[in-house]
Amino acid sequence: MVNAMSPVRVRFAPSPTGMLHVGGARTALFNWLFARHHQGTFILRVEDTDDQRNTPEANEAIFSGLTWLGLDWDEGPNRGGPRGPYRQSERTAIYEGYLAKLQAADLAYTDADGSVRFRCPNTTRAIPDLICGETVFAGRTEPDMTVRRANGSFIFHFVNVVDDIEMGVTHVIRGEDHLPNTPRHLDLYEAFGVTPPHFAHIPLILNANGSKMSKRDEGASVAEYQSAGYHPEAVLNYLALLGWSPKEDRELFCREDLIARFTLGGITRGNAMFNLDKCGWLSGQYFHVMEPAPFRDMLLPYLTAAGLQTTADALPDSLLLELRTKVRMLSEAVPLLAALVQDDFPVDAAAVAKLRSQSDPKPLLDALATAFAGVGTWQAADLDAAIGRAAEGLGIKKGALMFPCRIALTGQSGGFGLTTILEQLGRERALDRLTRFS
Ligand code: GLU
Repeated sequence: MVNAMSPVRVRFAPSPTGMLHVGGARTALFNWLFARHHQGTFILRVEDTDDQRNTPEANEAIFSGLTWLGLDWDEGPNRGGPRGPYRQSERTAIYEGYLAKLQAADLAYTDADGSVRFRCPNTTRAIPDLICGETVFAGRTEPDMTVRRANGSFIFHFVNVVDDIEMGVTHVIRGEDHLPNTPRHLDLYEAFGVTPPHFAHIPLILNANGSKMSKRDEGASVAEYQSAGYHPEAVLNYLALLGWSPKEDRELFCREDLIARFTLGGITRGNAMFNLDKCGWLSGQYFHVMEPAPFRDMLLPYLTAAGLQTTADALPDSLLLELRTKVRMLSEAVPLLAALVQDDFPVDAAAVAKLRSQSDPKPLLDALATAFAGVGTWQAADLDAAIGRAAEGLGIKKGALMFPCRIALTGQSGGFGLTTILEQLGRERALDRLTRFS
């Protein structure tokens, strides 16, 4: 809920030049949490002034990733708001107006190449950063900063500052890679006679080996989590703990917990260490406690998209209660369910070879089929007793029947409990698979 009286206005300002990186998603999340904690306003601003590098796919990845993570924006593209438009490509007239202000004050001029330059003081600047503490950048002797290229397009620093002014941004929360840009941003604020916002630069994300995380690293793109079917609330939880700590000895924090606890003071000064396994573990934790109905709602479209022919009726609660303990991401459910929901399923050739090397499975499977055929009610206790009877008749241990039965029914050596598999397949399908296995 946005409280109109709250002065907090923050923004996520991605450039649509590639995928949505986990670092970007974390920046969006910290801004969103800060806004929600203070009942302020979270703005999405698309920084698309660089025609050469922007792509429609990158633009789509931002919307899709933020929506998947449940990071809703109060003002921005597709939503509107009083300080729009929210795509920089649509704000040229505003930038021209600000440029005219600089020119009128003789703070900007056109150079020999046709670019417009700002008479940047380049003075020493102390940035009172809310995370990094006061950081001093010495004055420089640099050529005047270009603010508009000869082709008419504006430079990032200029439009970024103009928009933060125009959109009434109170806190700039962004990656630490932008800290060295901030002195030049302060020069612009000063030129416009505007008090700058508060700055909070978030430390970087590093790989386990200490190198800076790049877009080529596994787990770098939010789209990977979407397509692998991680639990989005778990990814949100994971990203929140990547460089921020509520100083409590636990790992699971739901969205409301995070909003209640989030402060900029809780952001750690050191760089954050990325750990994809931990994210997977957390995702598993979220699935483990999911109620069958919402789990089914999340799972079904995923399975369909993965090519499994299934329906809600083919996924009873009992099956989902077992499945939820076995997966860390929805992609892991696909091979587990394939043999249970359709007749066309992959067979693990190595497992079949192992089975055949032990003994001829045919008599074992026939004995099982006979025992199952006599079962009164097709449910776990009776099925289990039937396996026992078959083993007794063959003079072998019950355990020795499990593996052949599992391979004949599902083609896989792991997966659900055998009685779950039998219940799920039903009498006809199960007997058919046992007798047809050859
Ligand atoms: N478009 C810039 C980026 O993606 C935004 C920088 C900022 O948040 O001020 O890095």
